[in-house]
Amino acid sequence: MKSSPASVSGSRVFHVKQFDVIVIGGGHAGSEAAAASARKGAATALITLRADAIGVMSCNPAIGGLGKGHLVREIDALDGVMGLAADRAGIQYRLLNRRKGPAVQGPRTQADRKLYRLAMQSLLAAQPNLTVVEGEVVDLVQDGPRVVGVVLKDGSKIAARSVVLTAGTFLNGLIHIGNVKRPGGRMGDAPSLPLAERLAALELGRGRLKTGTPPRLDGKTIDWSRLETQDADDEPVVFSFLNKGPQVRQIACGITHTNERTHDIVRANLGLSAMYGGHIEGVGPRYCPSIEDKIVRFADKTSHQVFLEPEGLDDDTVYPNGISTSLPAEVQEEYVRSIAGLENVRILQPGYAIEYDYFDPRGLTAGLEVKAAPGLFFAGQINGTTGYEEAAAQGLIAGLNAAANALQQDVVRFSRSDSYMGVMVDDLITRGVTEPYRMFTSRAEFRLALRADNADQRLTAKGAEIGCVGPERLRVFSEKMDRLAVARDILESARFSSRDLLESGLRISNDGARRSGFELLAFGEGAQDAVEALLPEFSALDPETKTQIATDALYAQYLHRQQGDADLLRREEEAIIPRDFDYDAMSGLSNELTAKLKRILPENLAQAGRIEGMTPAALTLILAHLRKAK
Ligand code: FAD
Repeated sequence: MKSSPASVSGSRVFHVKQFDVIVIGGGHAGSEAAAASARKGAATALITLRADAIGVMSCNPAIGGLGKGHLVREIDALDGVMGLAADRAGIQYRLLNRRKGPAVQGPRTQADRKLYRLAMQSLLAAQPNLTVVEGEVVDLVQDGPRVVGVVLKDGSKIAARSVVLTAGTFLNGLIHIGNVKRPGGRMGDAPSLPLAERLAALELGRGRLKTGTPPRLDGKTIDWSRLETQDADDEPVVFSFLNKGPQVRQIACGITHTNERTHDIVRANLGLSAMYGGHIEGVGPRYCPSIEDKIVRFADKTSHQVFLEPEGLDDDTVYPNGISTSLPAEVQEEYVRSIAGLENVRILQPGYAIEYDYFDPRGLTAGLEVKAAPGLFFAGQINGTTGYEEAAAQGLIAGLNAAANALQQDVVRFSRSDSYMGVMVDDLITRGVTEPYRMFTSRAEFRLALRADNADQRLTAKGAEIGCVGPERLRVFSEKMDRLAVARDILESARFSSRDLLESGLRISNDGARRSGFELLAFGEGAQDAVEALLPEFSALDPETKTQIATDALYAQYLHRQQGDADLLRREEEAIIPRDFDYDAMSGLSNELTAKLKRILPENLAQAGRIEGMTPAALTLILAHLRKAK
């Protein structure tokens, strides 16, 4: 065991053997978990295999996207680190779905791999209450079922009140390239075998999943002159509410396409692919198909788009987004070279697939604590999810709850009605996973309310109550809320007749109604210009405030309609079902439902309602018993 040079002096690490919280793993879940736990005031140790690999992106060099960008904004609203690191490394911002409504727009950026890793390491090094320890955790220390510490490979023990496990793809990780397979956590890293064995003994539901990555290319050997390019947005939308714009130079990426020859080569060699040759038992991510998957599943397509994304500002490595594979290295070379612009390309690292263990997330509470092993929390890929953002959001929740557990504070819960994080955790712990879970805006029933632009309005005040939001964030947030309140006052205090409005050029029915400036903004296109013309005081406000309040106004009418459903959900979430609730004592429930309820142990009525096969009659019965038990 040794300490990270960036974080703390070696002597302190060797002498401190007791922490409030230990986080195992310095990937995306672990970094966010450790930072959140420390922000909440818990003495936290982040134990990871290599301190210089904290914040490594195992696959694509990009953060955000549809649904995923929402998660990053929510993490940022709670003063987390992912958005800040992404902004220090963002080299090509693009707001996805820019032409659609703000509710489904997803901020995304390509990230300089090295800058992202260094940004994450420096953010963690600057975090008070956090000690980074380099080492391999090989065992858990238990007192009865309760987890009370860890054992490192050198035999040393570290005690803690809570332990968060975020080992990613490392648990029994097996790398496949064609029919060659070897144990590995990801390319260049050994797998975590002793810990996987120890976890198997806990007898939690366990399964195998797989994921894959494309070959990495030498950008100097690509013929860029033959390719289309895609530029960064002219008006970049960054991640952190603390930042105004990109912090490093913006670049373009190249676009090319597979062709019939590419597809013939892949088709002819399908039997040699690890995924199609029967070498892999795990299920892969449906939404990130490999080139083999694409050619089998979309057999009638003669071409697929490939984005050639530079991995950094001073790095010639190029990530060909869209052609992940587990074919043998020589076949990869043949099919890659059949693609326009890549005829003479040099492959720096072959693509590969990886299979790994995950645990059934239905064994977790809403705070991501393992029901069968109190004090142990799981976050990230080991819960059956895929993606950096999904991992980081779970890390945040697990870190906050591990700290709350250690400091004997209340459980920190997020709801489907307040955040995508709440949607994800509820999906995971109620429905489990059958394939790697990734976030989409379609998963959220309240998505008009859960926008990326209003994540701070939804969550920062809650974060301050939880105790994970620092003074600088709170100051920026309060000032923004003050500006919005001023704008709202100006808009609400002025009322306009339909005649005024028609004269100002707004297309509106002459119905005699008088409308406030705020109501007018909800008319969408052209409304903001009309309101600015009518209300010079509003026009004089800063552009950011005006855009935000116009978006808030646009959605206010829909939110009003959703409010009833959201209130009902909240009431059901407040109907807490005790862990020892006696389902057997209830007559009228089917055997099948009783068995499901006893296995899932829903924490509240809302969660019980989402169990497959649940009926309104059964819910009423549970509610009646809950009331009787009070
Ligand atoms: P990781 O980022 O894997 O971090 C795990 C950390 O735990 C590492 O720091 C490791 O050193 C540490 N660790 C492990 N065991 C121990 C131990 N015993 N003791 C101490 N430290 C330990 N996602 C997508 O969305 N799309 C994709 O196409 C995609 N493709 C992928 C392809 C590959 C080959 C891989 C490996 C991953 C891919 N991913 C993809 C997934 C993405 O990388 C993960 O979802 C994300 O990194 C998960 O974050 P995490 O924090 O859970 O785990």
